[in-house]
Amino acid sequence: MESSNRRIVHMDLDSFFVSVERKLNPDLIGKPVIIGGTSGRGVVSSCSYEARKYGVHSAMPGARARQLCPHGIFIKGNMQVYSENSRLVTQIIEDAAPLVEKASIDEHYLDVTGMDKYICDSFTWTKQLRQKIIKESGLPISFGLSTNKLVSKIATTESKPNGELFIEPGKEKAFLAPMDVNKIPGVGDKTYITLCNLGLRKIETIQNMSIEKMQSHFGEYGKSIWLRANGISDSAVETHWDQKSMSTERTFHTDTNDKRFLKELLVKMVEELGFDLRRSEKG
Ligand SMILES: [Mg+2]
Repeated sequence: MESSNRRIVHMDLDSFFVSVERKLNPDLIGKPVIIGGTSGRGVVSSCSYEARKYGVHSAMPGARARQLCPHGIFIKGNMQVYSENSRLVTQIIEDAAPLVEKASIDEHYLDVTGMDKYICDSFTWTKQLRQKIIKESGLPISFGLSTNKLVSKIATTESKPNGELFIEPGKEKAFLAPMDVNKIPGVGDKTYITLCNLGLRKIETIQNMSIEKMQSHFGEYGKSIWLRANGISDSAVETHWDQKSMSTERTFHTDTNDKRFLKELLVKMVEELGFDLRRSEKG
């Protein structure tokens, strides 16, 4: 498939945990809500845009969040309720799209390639799906649509909150050009500082370099940064992300080093796994 013909959607629920809490308690709407960080050494797992204005962000120690935003509403969080809401959204998406990858509790990739020919244009279709999700789940969600997963994910981030963005085929480089390189997924703080020190703060600067030059500076990693800076990515939307591995286990009441017993058990366990794999049509 010609890469410019692919249509990949990335959908991400907006401050998901906060949105679920607000659905349960509308009094929280418009207020600085912080999930997590309630116990002694706990960290923030999610926070509302109102809290972000004070510099609060996820993974920050709760104590620090309290300093920055003393009037914030801190909530312990309830993973079970979040998981239920996540499953509901996944169900709506899977009912609508044939190829779905659940990338995390609040993120999905959809491969909608070819839809333009048969149903309607993929942007219109995805906008309708987004409205359906908002209506049926009561949760805000944003999406990016482009020719690949990488550009769509960045487009989602740019569209937030409550947004949607279509990067037309051929416009990927221009879309990324004005951004800072830390907008590229996988470029962490450390790499960002290194790149800035070399004068490579803007994605455009990397686009204007040769891939060989990036490779000579950073090896294979440099090559991969260059490709991403140019909006090039061919990774596939993988279904059943949560079933990439299967396992089986046994716990012994007492320790054993009986080799024959262990060997027989191992064969049995492999057979069990083989059965499970065949049943799930992955064998
Ligand atoms: Mg999210």
